Parts: sequence; structure tokens; C-alpha cells
Amino acid sequence: MPENTMADVAIVGAGPAGLCLAVELAAMGLEVAVVDRIPYSALAEPGEDGREIALTHTSRRQLAWAGIWQRIDMQSVAPIREAQLYNGDAPQAMTLAGGERSASRTIGQLVPNRVIRRAAFEAALDDSRITLLTGQGVSALETATRTRTLRLEDGSRLDARLVVAADGRMSVTRRMAGLPAHLEDTGRKVLVCRMAHERPHGETTWSWFGYERALALLPLNEQTSSVVMTLTPTEAERLASLDVAAFSATVTDFYRHCLGDMQRIGEVHSYPLWVGYAQRLVEERLALIGDAAIGLHPATAHGFNVGLASVHRLAREISMEHRRGGDIGSSAVLSAYERAHQRAIRPLWLASQTVVSLYGDARPPARMLRQAALGLARQVGPLRWGLESYLLRDAR
Ligand SMILES: Cc1cc2nc3c(=O)[nH]c(=O)nc-3n(C[C@H](O)[C@H](O)[C@H](O)COP(=O)(O)OP(=O)(O)OC[C@H]3O[C@@H](n4cnc5c(N)ncnc54)[C@H](O)[C@@H]3O)c2cc1C
Repeated sequence: MPENTMADVAIVGAGPAGLCLAVELAAMGLEVAVVDRIPYSALAEPGEDGREIALTHTSRRQLAWAGIWQRIDMQSVAPIREAQLYNGDAPQAMTLAGGERSASRTIGQLVPNRVIRRAAFEAALDDSRITLLTGQGVSALETATRTRTLRLEDGSRLDARLVVAADGRMSVTRRMAGLPAHLEDTGRKVLVCRMAHERPHGETTWSWFGYERALALLPLNEQTSSVVMTLTPTEAERLASLDVAAFSATVTDFYRHCLGDMQRIGEVHSYPLWVGYAQRLVEERLALIGDAAIGLHPATAHGFNVGLASVHRLAREISMEHRRGGDIGSSAVLSAYERAHQRAIRPLWLASQTVVSLYGDARPPARMLRQAALGLARQVGPLRWGLESYLLRDAR
């Protein structure tokens, strides 16, 4: 007979957002159950997925507060001192730098996604108030008085005062709850892999928005970088099929020899590029967080930072209600979360959509528009400062 579980909060998805929320809620004294279809062993020791997460200082502090940052091996963390953005063939870049305004003189740090996942999983494992139900998905979502019930694939049930969907941008839980979302297949693929190179990267992230492809370079330790290439599916498949020498030579050409010869030193990972935005974030005793709420274009490099912001906002509302002895799954708690998070993510979604529509479009009007957008960003002080202060928010 499968066992039934009762919790204050049930979280679907033990990705970085779901696990971070679990740890924050358990620290308040709440009983939390986390369900994931991935087997225990793969969550405990996540495989290499090629993603290097650019964390802002705000995100780093939130992870430290939750006791997750302390579990990260500092050898795997690389500082970002400056970010440069190039448009097409224009020689001038828009630069975002830590400079004098950040105590650490950095704008953030790069941490492999699998390292964050492992650290969050270990933190969850060490808290006896968190129950991990792994290796199975959710088959149904039901409503009862003052609780919601998740039916799991093994036939067991999980009852909770609040269900949180943290099951990624294609969230099944969001669909089961009937929450509408705008999902878009951009028609592009993202290829990521690690490369060694001859010249130092100067701890600078570089993004080039070409007309057919967008390229980014993320500086890692010891004269290596991660390359992130947004390509048409045909070009992505052709590149991924090359042997190491031919791949390295092609990528060196793509990056115009800016760091000298580049040599592939890791596996190539390929992702179809979907973006998504949930029009509503809450339903009866249910909330969306992380990519289930908004799945941004990787070119924004803010997906997980925004996911952590959703964790922070939901945990804050729950904490206030819990301290008052109230109902943590009430519509008042959830509406306050929805208002605060939607206000923050809507501009990011619009910016991300501009990236998708303008940077994938080689037609003359789009070229002109993006040229104008980037020229404006370079020249107009307030916009540039707005971007910098967004990255450096709370960094002092
Ligand atoms: C190439 C690439 C580069 C990126 N770079 C950056 C970056 O530099 N900075 C940044 O901030 N972000 C970046 N991102 C985005 C970042 O990786 C995501 O925003 C983040 O992983 C989302 O976390 P999440 O926990 O919401 O979802 P996910 O990581 O998608 O986790 C969802 C979890 O839910 C589980 N699940 C799914 N369906 C079910 C189900 N039905 N039942 C049970 N469990 C289920 C999955 O197994 C998974 O464990 C990048 C993304 C890509 C693809």
C-alpha cells in the first residue's frame, strides 16, 4: 500500500527554485513535502547540464541566508567584473561594470547549475521538516475544504494547505490547475559547452547579438569560458555533430579569435528554446514560482535570479501570515504574492520578448529597431543606470 503524506506545503519540482523555497519554509517551522519525477540519485548528484548560472549579489545573499551558499565549493565559483553587450557589427559595446559602486567590484558570479542544485538538495536533506518524494510525478490535483490534494503516480496522495508548482516552464501542475500561460517556441536552439582559450577573458561576460545567431561568453576559472550559442536548429545540429577539432575551429571563428584559439573541453549540451509567461500566478491554495511562473530567454541571464525573487516574495507573505497564526494558503496571502511578483516580472517579460522578436529577426525594420534600442541603451544615462542598478541592487 503506498503511504499518504500530509504537509503544510507541497512543492511540485525539486529544481533549484522548489528546493530553495522548501528550505526557507522549513526554517519557519513549516512541514514541507517536495515531489519530483527525477530519481533520488540524480537529484543528490545532478549531472553536468552545461548551464552556468550568473547570480546577482542579491541572489547570492538569499542563498546564504537559506544556508545553501555555504555548501557551494568556492573553486567552482567565478567572478563577473564586467558585462559587455555588442549589437550586430557595431564596434562599440554597452558596458555594465561593478566598479566603485559595488564593494566587491563585481556585478555577480557564475556558478554551475548542477552545483546550486546539489547544494540546495543537501540543505533540504538536512532538514527533518522536509520530506522528499522522488522518482514520481503528479497525476492529479484535487480540491477539498482548506486543503489541496496531489495524487502521485504510485497511487499515494499528498495533502497540503498550499500547493506550489515549481515544475519548470512546461509546468504540468500549472495546466492541471487551469492557469493560463503564454508559451512560445522561439524556433531556435541553444548550444552550451566549456572552452579553453589562449588569451585571458578579464572576468568579462560578452554577448553578441548577430542577425542569424546570438553568442555569449561566460568567464570561468583558469582561462576557460562557457560559450552559449543561440542558433537555428539546422546550424545547431551541424555544429553539434562536428568532432572536437572541427567544433573548436568553428567556434573560434564564430567568436572572431577574440580570445585566440579556443579548444572544446566539455560535452556540448543542446536546449530547445521555449519561453513562457503565466498570466495568473495563483489559484485556490496554489501558487506558481520559478520557471513555472516565468521562463525567460537565457540571453537575459536572469532566469534563476527571477526564480529566487519569486521564492523570496512567496516566503515573505507566508512568513507574515504564519507569525500571525493565520491560514498560509488563504487567497489574501496568495494575492499579495501575485501582485508583488507580477509587478516585478512584467517588465522583464516584455524585455525578454523584445530579445526574442528583434534578435531573431534579420529583416531591415527589426535591424533598425534593435540598433536604435541598443544605441539608446548606450547613450541614455537613466536607462543604462537602470540596468546597472538592477544588477547591483542591494550589492553594497
Ligand atoms: C542554457 C541555459 C542557460 C541559463 N543560464 C542562466 C543564467 O545565466 N542565469 C540564470 O539566472 N538563469 C539561467 N538559466 C535559467 C535557469 O536555468 C532556470 O531559470 C532555472 O533552472 C529554473 O529553475 P526551476 O526550479 O524553476 O525549474 P527547473 O530547473 O526546470 O526544475 C523543475 C523541476 O521540476 C521537476 N518536474 C517537472 N515536471 C514534473 C512533474 N510533473 N512532477 C514532478 N516533478 C516535475 C523537474 O524534474 C525538475 O527537477 C539558463 C537556462 C538555460 C536553458
